[in-house]
Amino acid sequence: MNAKYQRLNESILDRLREIVGQDNVFTSAENREKYSHDEVTEVHFEPEAVVKVCKAEEVCRIMKLAQQTGFPVTPRGAGQGLSGGCVPAMGGVILSLEKMNSIIEIDQENLMVTVEPGVITGELHRAVEALGLFYPPDPASLDSCSIGGNIAENAGGPRAVKYGITRHYVCGLEAVLPSGELVRMGGKLVKDVTGYDLMHLIIGSEGTLAVVTKIILRLIPLPKHRVDMLVPFKDFMSATKAVADIIKNRIVPTALEFMGKDSILAVEKLSEKDVPFHEAEAHLLITLDGNNKKAIDEDYERVGELCMENGAIDVLVADNPQLRDKLWGARRLIIEALKHLSPEHVMDTQDLCVPRASIPRLLKEIRAIADRHDMNIVCFGHAGDGNVHVNVIKDMPDAKWFAQKDKVAGEMYKAALALDGAITGEHGIGLTRKKYLPLAVGAVQVDLMRRVKEAFDPAYILNPGKIFEQ
Ligand SMILES: Cc1cc2nc3c(=O)[nH]c(=O)nc-3n(C[C@H](O)[C@H](O)[C@H](O)COP(=O)(O)OP(=O)(O)OC[C@H]3O[C@@H](n4cnc5c(N)ncnc54)[C@H](O)[C@@H]3O)c2cc1C
Repeated sequence: MNAKYQRLNESILDRLREIVGQDNVFTSAENREKYSHDEVTEVHFEPEAVVKVCKAEEVCRIMKLAQQTGFPVTPRGAGQGLSGGCVPAMGGVILSLEKMNSIIEIDQENLMVTVEPGVITGELHRAVEALGLFYPPDPASLDSCSIGGNIAENAGGPRAVKYGITRHYVCGLEAVLPSGELVRMGGKLVKDVTGYDLMHLIIGSEGTLAVVTKIILRLIPLPKHRVDMLVPFKDFMSATKAVADIIKNRIVPTALEFMGKDSILAVEKLSEKDVPFHEAEAHLLITLDGNNKKAIDEDYERVGELCMENGAIDVLVADNPQLRDKLWGARRLIIEALKHLSPEHVMDTQDLCVPRASIPRLLKEIRAIADRHDMNIVCFGHAGDGNVHVNVIKDMPDAKWFAQKDKVAGEMYKAALALDGAITGEHGIGLTRKKYLPLAVGAVQVDLMRRVKEAFDPAYILNPGKIFEQ
């Protein structure tokens, strides 16, 4: 709580009830706790009220009220973030978009879909795929996160290696500014260079510049053929060398994920299901897709050869949907499974990103950091994007954890930056990484970001306390 902000008194609560209806304002201790965190295990800030909106007009009125009275508003999608982005660091209102969850239109003439922000990403996938269309961005949390959160975080996912990230599919946005004004940017347009590209400024702005209330996304035809492969290796370095070789051979898989034995065993323990080749030290999970079956078959044979040349133990081709779902189900469970390695289900998750060819060097650095601090660190991630998820498991007493955790994170960030990398590839700065933003981009850029924030939100009422210190 910050003295600068107005607390929610009865008069403000009454006005909020008037805007969204009695049943959409929640102040019970249970609700405040439920909306006090995302998927970062150690960050909790309770809102004073949770307000669930059903239309953009309500968002406009709430933002106008916030401006007049001075309470902070934090937008929230599905609360699956990994940087504390939707956590109300200064109290005030959690503005939940979860009820704005309609797929408004699938336009098959223009290959565009218009959605409300609360639509769950996996539901959008299924709706368009039923019509032979494809929305590629697929964060591993796709069955629990929302499109609004994906826009705000500019989410990536396993298919980014071939198809790119959320930003590459957004053609239009409707958003409410902190002033309460509604703006529309872009549309069902393939091209639009009208002035500064404010739409792309809002994408990835982590809910700090505007509340997104409607989204137009580009679709592509659903590829006709797909092959998935699980390739076990005797060690991590061989797997990462295979990744470099696949790319060097100009094969761009749809997905190219890596995971170590620790991740696989944790998934088996949590799910109580076997994962093939669980005894191998490292695995690659590879997908290839396209319309030309012969070309895909040639590519997957070549990928298999390259893996074997780099010391793969075997190549398992998932040629039926059951096996494919089993392998991807295991991959998507890793974060939850790793949390269960900690007696308190606590871990610190980083998502460093380096040029793809530098992954082996980054992994060596991380191993050295883990040894130096005697910490249990498990890595997996989107190898095809150079995006390594580094998970530091809390399996030690509080004293050691709190003394070491920040030091370890700082050393990892420095290691990624020394390799011309980034401190976060897809999870965002939010609350948990803001201390390190100056290290990553320098004072000049932080100052420019602050001035952009102030142009949108001079009173810092929208999602305050995120990305940089106020
Ligand atoms: C198991 C697991 C796997 C994951 N895998 C991936 C992955 O592969 N790739 C990836 O990129 N991320 C991944 N994530 C992180 C997370 O799922 C994404 O960041 C996702 O985009 C969050 O969506 P959400 O709806 O849950 O957003 P929330 O957590 O609710 O919010 C995230 C941010 O978006 C803002 N926000 C939400 N809705 C709006 C809106 N309508 N307007 C303005 N701002 C808004 C919030 O203020 C907050 O800053 C994973 C998370 C988990 C738990």
